[in-house]
Amino acid sequence: MASFNPISAWLEMKSQLPVLQVQDIGLKYLYPVLIALVVLEYVQAKHLYNLKETWASFAIAAGATVMRVITQVFEITLYFFLFQLAEPLREQYLGYSTLGFAWYIWIICAIADDHNFYWHHRFSHNIRLLWAAHLPHHSAKTFNLTVSVRNGWFVTLYKPLFWLWMPLVGFEPIMIATCLIVNSFYQFFLHSQLVPSLPLYEKLFNTPFVHVVHHSSNVEYLDRNHGGILTIWDRLYGTWQAPIKGVDAKFGITHYPEHGNALAHNIFEFQEIWKDVKKAPGLKNKFMYIFGPPGWSHDGSSMTSKQLQKELAQAKAAGMGAPKHDYVRAN
Ligand SMILES: [Zn+2]
Repeated sequence: MASFNPISAWLEMKSQLPVLQVQDIGLKYLYPVLIALVVLEYVQAKHLYNLKETWASFAIAAGATVMRVITQVFEITLYFFLFQLAEPLREQYLGYSTLGFAWYIWIICAIADDHNFYWHHRFSHNIRLLWAAHLPHHSAKTFNLTVSVRNGWFVTLYKPLFWLWMPLVGFEPIMIATCLIVNSFYQFFLHSQLVPSLPLYEKLFNTPFVHVVHHSSNVEYLDRNHGGILTIWDRLYGTWQAPIKGVDAKFGITHYPEHGNALAHNIFEFQEIWKDVKKAPGLKNKFMYIFGPPGWSHDGSSMTSKQLQKELAQAKAAGMGAPKHDYVRAN
């Protein structure tokens, strides 16, 4: 096995940039279109915007971009390292050194990437420590295209873990990076209320109409529709929820930072976890406040989405109205 040099690995990636044309296309053609769409949406539907919140979204986006520039170097370098590390094993046991760049490998890569995205996103909603990092994406009370760039600063520290198996089995690192970028471009379009339902398309692909469910804090909609490009993962793994007639989306989260600055949104839930850990009796409870689902409590002072949904289902079955709580859930 050739010795690994991270700098030459990074330069190697740079030298392969023609393959990463998606970034060039993004900068030259796609970004101006995205900006134009935001302006158009604002002009068309000012009531969907709260300018103070939009500026907070841009500030959160700026911080996330800085984090991305730093961590991307390490992330792609790690993909190269793992790709090279497992090369002899692939040759010996699988009979190939790389999966290459055939068109069908691109399709398999995009599907695998979206599957990784689903699980990374689902865990981000079900493990409170990860939820703390993902929260800024959900803390807006309005829902429009600018929410798409409102990404948590610390997500990039754990998200790549879900992709590490891909270079090991022989997906070219440059291809993995391209699929990741394409997926994030696709998701820009999911954050709008101006696109109607596309029933046939939604059977397979994610749309703004069904992504609204994911951004709603209604009990019926909590922790649903985690998919990136495809909706099939949610259907397959039991987290699918179509918009329900009569249940209008309540955007935002129930437990949120009082102060609107970008830093507050990014550290809020970590502070909340720390407070809960300090007051929790016993190691098991402390562990659950960090790694358990958002809303978990040792004394019933708050509830998880599963508990809330079960309670609502029981109330409905008994012909009663939705239970009211004066306490909140962490999501
Ligand atoms: Zn989410």
